[in-house]
Order: sequence, then structure tokens, then C-alpha cells
Amino acid sequence: MEEVRLKILVVDDELGMRVGVERALSDFCVNVDSVCCCVRFEVIQASSGEEAVEKIRADKPDIMLLDYKLGGMTGLELLEEIDVEYQNILTIMITAYASLETAVIAIKRGAYDFLAKPFTPGELKSVIKKSSEHIVVQRQALKLAEEKKQIRFQFISVLAHELKSPLGAVEGYLRIMSDRVLGEEIGAYEEIIGRSLYRIGMMRKQIMDLLDLTRIESGQAKRNMESVDVVSVAREGIEDVERQASERGICIELEFDGRVEMEADRSELSMILNNLITNAVKYNRDGGKVRVSICEREGRVMIEVEDTGIGIEQEQIGSIFDDFVRIKNENTKGISGSGLGLSIVKKLVDVYGGELSVASEVGKGTRFSVVLPKKAKVCDGNGQERDIKLVERV
Ligand code: ADP
Repeated sequence: MEEVRLKILVVDDELGMRVGVERALSDFCVNVDSVCCCVRFEVIQASSGEEAVEKIRADKPDIMLLDYKLGGMTGLELLEEIDVEYQNILTIMITAYASLETAVIAIKRGAYDFLAKPFTPGELKSVIKKSSEHIVVQRQALKLAEEKKQIRFQFISVLAHELKSPLGAVEGYLRIMSDRVLGEEIGAYEEIIGRSLYRIGMMRKQIMDLLDLTRIESGQAKRNMESVDVVSVAREGIEDVERQASERGICIELEFDGRVEMEADRSELSMILNNLITNAVKYNRDGGKVRVSICEREGRVMIEVEDTGIGIEQEQIGSIFDDFVRIKNENTKGISGSGLGLSIVKKLVDVYGGELSVASEVGKGTRFSVVLPKKAKVCDGNGQERDIKLVERV
């Protein structure tokens, strides 16, 4: 449980009152379960309004216990002088009598609560408990709002940054074409047309990743749960990267135990498999291998995507599932991505109550394992259970 320390300024011209408050609160602790924190207090004293003004400026207290009747500047004058709301100080007025009139005036000037003199340590603690809960919950809400703003900003800036260079490249290629730099024959432009299409494809993938992530995180994703053939989803994922893989001499193997079915939203299951398979090709060495294996054990679907690629350093494994994380080193130079693929996989696996793990060795390869609960059973095309392992080369 996180510990929060709040400063309380007691402004009272009676020494006995100030010392009493300090004593009552010295070991006092408020547990705010809703935000998992425990609040402790440091008490500062001021014997006059003038001294209080100085201490407020120097110590920036969180709560002020303010006597209504002070010699010199009164409690209400002090509230006006320092503008407690602007200073973000939660003020509790101490009054010798609980009068409605003083209550109204003090609240208008920014006071939060009241304590009528004489009060017991229990009454003091109860008002301090309420005030400190108010402060920590309010701060937590502000922190969350700030985080939300930051995430939105991060999303937009990553998108803008990631799209800037492919957009620039495609613009450059189009200028070459519009200025007829390579002559009048369309055939001369084949290579740059191909490159443009590739860059546009990458941009589309980045935008789609961001949309997928936003959809999952918003919790508003409409799930179309059905019985899904996991092997066919994997096969489609392999087909999507086949051209890229064969250009680099990478061989993809799909291993499966008959027909593996599970209850899922097909497009979400496809996001899990596609991201893992794409990475296994992207981060592989030329001439390498990718093994995609799908089987069912004890009512669970086990998916493994293993490659013979660059591998991941142990100290970086902990962060690869975070949003926008991309490992930057000599091996990953020139490989494009959004840094969102694995965070999408992780979030989806969590949605399905599954488990995701990774084992990797630098220079040797990486294996991602996903275990998802299933309701369907393993059977072959004829609806019969099979335990023969088929190896299909694609
Ligand atoms: P990206 O869009 O960068 O591929 P991901 O979230 O899919 O984003 O992956 C995060 C990072 O994890 C990648 O930038 C890469 O460095 C590393 N990574 C993911 N999959 C593999 C893999 N199969 N082999 C090696 N590194 C990988």
C-alpha cells in the first residue's frame, strides 16, 4: 500500500489547542482502500493569521485547521488573503459555536468543513479522515485524467511520427513519376510503384494496429463469439506473410493436431496469430524457419510460434508487451513496426483469460506460447478425434 504524507497547518492562538491537535494526529493513519494508500500527517503550527500566511507560502500545506477567531487577522480575513482554493488548501474552520451564518460565509470563501470547539480527538480525526480521503481521491482522479491525456497525446504523436517518413517516401516517388524523371514508359516506374505500394501497406498496418488497440482498450469491442477453427486462422495468417517470407527464403511450418476449435471472435484470434507470425518472419534471419504449432490439451488451445531469428535480450523481454515498445539495435535497424503488435496480443490473451509467455535466445530465436481456454474439441475433418501430428509445409 502506497504511503501518502499530508501537511496540516493548525492556525490557532491557543498553544494548548495546537499542541493537542499535533499530539492527536502524530500516529494517526487513514487507509483509503479505493486508491490503495495510507495517509499519514505532519502537523505545522501558526499562532496568528500573519504567521499562517508565511507558513502557507513556505510549506504549502494540504489541509488547514483554522480558528475562526484569531487575534489580529481573523480566520475569514486569512481565507480571503490567501485564496485557499487557488492555493489548493483544504480548510477546516474551527468555531467556538456552530453558527449557520459563519458557516455560509466561510464556505463562500473556500472552506471545506467545520469543527466546533471544544472537540474531542475522535471528532478531529473523523473530520481529518474525511478531508484526507477527499484529497487523495481528487488527486487520483486528476492523475488519471492527466494519464489519459498523455496516452492520447502519445497515440497521436506516434502515429504522426511513424507515418511521416513513409508518407514522405511515397510523395517522393509520386513526384518522380509526375516529373517523368525516368521517361515516358510506365515500365520504368515499376520498382518505385512497388515500393510505394509497400510503404502504403505498412502505413495501413500501423493505422489498423492503433485502431485495434483502441477498440480493445475501450472495452467497446463488439465480440462475435463463435466456434472458430484455429488452424484455418493460422493458415490465413501464414498466407498473409508468405510472399515476404519466400522473398527472404524463410520456410514456415504449420503443425497441428487435427481440427482445433475454440469459442472466440475470429478477428481477434486472427490478430493474435497474425501479429506473432508476422513478427516471427520480420525478426527472422534470411533462410530461417518459422514453426507455428497448434494443439489442444485438457480443454485448452496451445499455440506456439517459434522462429530462428535475432532473439531478444533477457532484460528487454519484460517490456516488449508494453504499448509502443520497439527494441532498437543493430539487428532491428530497418525493420518497420508500430510497437503495438505484442501489446495487442497481450491484451487479447488477457481478455480471453489465457496465458502468454516467451522464451528467447539472442542470435538463436524466439518462441511465443499462448494458452487459451476452449470449449470446442479436437477433431479431424470427419468429426473424429485424432492424435496424429500432421506437419504441413507451406
Ligand atoms: P513491432 O511493430 O515493432 O514489431 P511488437 O509489439 O510486435 O512491435 O514487438 C515489440 C518488439 O519486440 C519489436 O520491436 C521487436 O524488437 C521485438 N520482437 C517481437 N517479436 C519478436 C521476435 N519474434 N523476435 C525478435 N524480436 C521480436
